Amino acid sequence: MPFSDFKLNKQLLNAVAEAGYTTPTEIQEKAIPTALAGQDILGIAQTGTGKTAAFLLPILMKLKYAQGDHPRALVLAPTRELAMQIQKAAQALSTYTDLRHLVLYGGTGIQKQIEAIQKGVDLIIATPGRFMDVYLKQGVVVKYLKTLVLDEADRMMDMGFMPQIRRILEILPQKKQKLLFSATFPPKVEKLSQEFLEFPTKIEITPQATTASTVEQYLYEVPNHRTKIALLHHLLAEEAFEKVIVFNRTKKVANEVYKFLVRKFGKEEVKVIHANKDQNTRINAINAFRDNQIRILVATDVVARGIDVSAVSHVINFDVPILYEEYVHRIGRTGRAKQSGKAITFVNEAEAFHIKKIETLIKASIPRKALPTELPYFETSFEEKQQMARAIDTQKKKENPDFKGAFHEKKKKNLRNKRKRK
Ligand code: AMP
Repeated sequence: MPFSDFKLNKQLLNAVAEAGYTTPTEIQEKAIPTALAGQDILGIAQTGTGKTAAFLLPILMKLKYAQGDHPRALVLAPTRELAMQIQKAAQALSTYTDLRHLVLYGGTGIQKQIEAIQKGVDLIIATPGRFMDVYLKQGVVVKYLKTLVLDEADRMMDMGFMPQIRRILEILPQKKQKLLFSATFPPKVEKLSQEFLEFPTKIEITPQATTASTVEQYLYEVPNHRTKIALLHHLLAEEAFEKVIVFNRTKKVANEVYKFLVRKFGKEEVKVIHANKDQNTRINAINAFRDNQIRILVATDVVARGIDVSAVSHVINFDVPILYEEYVHRIGRTGRAKQSGKAITFVNEAEAFHIKKIETLIKASIPRKALPTELPYFETSFEEKQQMARAIDTQKKKENPDFKGAFHEKKKKNLRNKRKRK
């Protein structure tokens, strides 16, 4: 099912395409039409399922364009970090609209936030405490709020936000649509949902967490992109790699890997499929792979689910999927129908974080293998080092909102020093 099947406007569909989303995730498939139809939703889904876009897209669709001065939708999130993340997604998805959004959280000047609200806003994303403080200072008019989202409700309750949430519910207009998302569904969340939601549609996404026992998994810790390419070359030169799918997160990397493999093994052995290839090209490539006309298929996640090819000897994850469930889907392409297969993942320093999450999801630790000693040594480029440092900072902040971010701090300090020198 493509995104264009949802009743979303062109501006949103363009933004979705630009974000690189080609197929809706399960929660999006279920929640977007339900929310667009105006129903309340109780969504049990974890981070990594695509839940943010699942609630933002219908909200942005309903808000449509900038209107009046006062907010019409409110998203409450437990931490500053999550609120900022949601705002980032809102920013990306509303690029082609004139909708105005703001994020409010504690620890920064409240007056500036109030001034920003008064300039006019359509969507507010906030932590409950700060939203209530702004309200008590008469910094926000709430009577036009038509949609309310509580994100990570279980965490908000664990953090003791229940009194603030109750008060916010009291001050908001009665007639509004409410969406409640929670990673888990303990009795206290059930109770909250009964109090808060009206005839909600319950959507529960349990990430597919079982990997076939016929698949042997292992991973290589690889310092950089150049070494990943060399390792890929090294492995594919072995005879045992008879029928291989190489997975990549993005089209860009998929194309790069494809070009490299064509140079090394020739066009007769390799094909690439991703969302930019038309349907016929994709089907031809999959058929050629199924019929053993080619040995290696380079692919992005988009097509992982659709490939039903037996006797795949190896799946190689050139990078680690960030939608964690994709890992299960990717490696499910091998070891089908009781045949044995191997799934090998290349992990750099910045991806180690996601591997830990995947290991939690699949309830297994993935064995590490040492890099082949024959592999040449490649220095990590300055740009790649920076990219990884930035990714690691983002991950640390996600886990601990108080983490200051070694990378950004250093960069700022350097800038300050530079200015001083001038
Ligand atoms: P979330 O569960 O909302 O935190 O989303 C997890 C990650 O998946 C984010 O990096 C999103 O940008 C990404 N994402 C969300 N929806 C899709 C989709 N349909 N296809 C690919 N990536 C997505």
